[in-house]
Amino acid sequence: MTSLQRSWVESANRPDCGFPLNNLPCGVFSTTSQGPRCGMAIGDFVLDLGNLEAHGILRLPYGLLLGLPFWNGVMAAGPKLWADLRAQVTALLIEGSDQQAAVEKYLVPLDAATLHMPFTLSEYTDFYASYHHATNVGTMFRGAENALPPNWLHIPIGYNGRASSVVVSGTDVRRPWGQVKGPNDVAPRFAASARFDIELELGAVVGVPSDSGHPVSVAQADAMIFGYVLLNDWSARDIQAWEYQPLGPFQSKATATSISPWIVMKAALEPFRTATPPREVPLLPHLREPGPMLYDIALEVGLTPDGGQETIICRTNYAEMYYSAAQQLAHHTSCGCPMNVGDLLGSGTISGPLKENRGSLLELSWGGKEPFALTDGQTRCFIEDNDTLTLRGYAKGQGYLIGFGTCTGKVLPALENPFTA
Ligand code: MN
Repeated sequence: MTSLQRSWVESANRPDCGFPLNNLPCGVFSTTSQGPRCGMAIGDFVLDLGNLEAHGILRLPYGLLLGLPFWNGVMAAGPKLWADLRAQVTALLIEGSDQQAAVEKYLVPLDAATLHMPFTLSEYTDFYASYHHATNVGTMFRGAENALPPNWLHIPIGYNGRASSVVVSGTDVRRPWGQVKGPNDVAPRFAASARFDIELELGAVVGVPSDSGHPVSVAQADAMIFGYVLLNDWSARDIQAWEYQPLGPFQSKATATSISPWIVMKAALEPFRTATPPREVPLLPHLREPGPMLYDIALEVGLTPDGGQETIICRTNYAEMYYSAAQQLAHHTSCGCPMNVGDLLGSGTISGPLKENRGSLLELSWGGKEPFALTDGQTRCFIEDNDTLTLRGYAKGQGYLIGFGTCTGKVLPALENPFTA
C-alpha cells in the first residue's frame, strides 16, 4: 500500500499526521481509570486493543495477549499473527467499516494516555554502522589515517549494552559521574561528565527468537524483526575516551538509552525499503543481503534549552547506514549466540555526508572545537544541564507519513559527588 488508506478516524487522514491507518504502531498506554495495556496509535488517538480483545471484538488465536503491559506475547507469536492483527485492526478502522459504532468508544485521545515502555527488554546490543559517523569519530579519536578500524568494512561491529538502562521517551536523564582523563591531566579523576552527548539511532526489536548454536541468514534475520523504534544512545564522551580501549564503551553508554514509545511494525515500512550503499569491499557470503533491507526514514534532532525554543541541530536519513539491522542480527547469531524475544539492536549513530547530517553533538561540534549556534543565540558543544533533546522520524509516502512519534529526554544536573569523603 503506497497511498493513504483512509480511516473513519478523520485525524488519521491528515497528510501531516504520523499515525494514519497505514502505520498502526504498537504502544503500551494507561489512563486514569485503567492500568497499562497494548494499544495502536491512529490519528490523534490510541486504539485500546486490550479492551477490544477483552470484549471479543478482536480475536487472536493464542488467547488474550493485548491486555498485557507489553507486546512480547504478540511478538513471540510470530509473523502470521502480526499480519492477522494488522488485518483485523485495519478492517475495524477503515473508512466505511460497519464496526465504527462498536469501535469508537475504544479510542482514547493521545493526550489522555500515558505511554510506557512498549515491550519488555531482553538484551540490548549497540552497533557502529554508519560510514560517516565511524569516519568522523575515528578521525577525532585516532586520526584520519586510522579512522575506520580494519574490521569495519567486513563486519558490523558492536558491543553488548545494558537492557536495564533502556527507558521510554519522556524519562529524565541524570548527567553521569565517571572516571575521566583529559589530554592535559596527569592522572585520571572522578567527575561529572562534561561532554554528555546523544546518538541518533534506530532500534530494531527482535520478535522471533533464534536457537543457540544456529546462525541465521540475513533473510531469516529480517523476518525475525518485529519493528523499529527511535533510539537515543546517551553517551558520555569524556568517560568513553578514557575507557574504550581495548574492550569498547562501558560506563560511558550505560547511564540511559531512550526509545520512542511506538514500535513501527516492519509491515508499515515495506514501501520504504531501500538498499545499503555500494560495498567498498565485497562482504563474505553470510552477510550479503538478498534484497533491500534499509528504509528511507527521515530523521531529525531538536535541542531545546531550559525554557527556550527548539533548534533542529541535525537532519539525516536511516538510508545512510552501511549495514542494515538484518545484517547486524545475522552477524550477532554467527557464533551461535541465541537471540530472544524483546532483544533490542541499536543501529549505531546515523550520520550522513553533510555537516547538518551529523547524528551526535561530538560530530556537530567536531570534538568540542567548533561550537554550533542555537536559534536564540546560545551555542553548544555538548549538552548543558536542563537541555531537552528530541528525536523525530518519519517515512514519507504519497499523501501520508509513517511517523515514529518522538523520543525525548531532559538532562538533569549531576548529583553532588556521590563519593565525597
Ligand atoms: Mn550508539
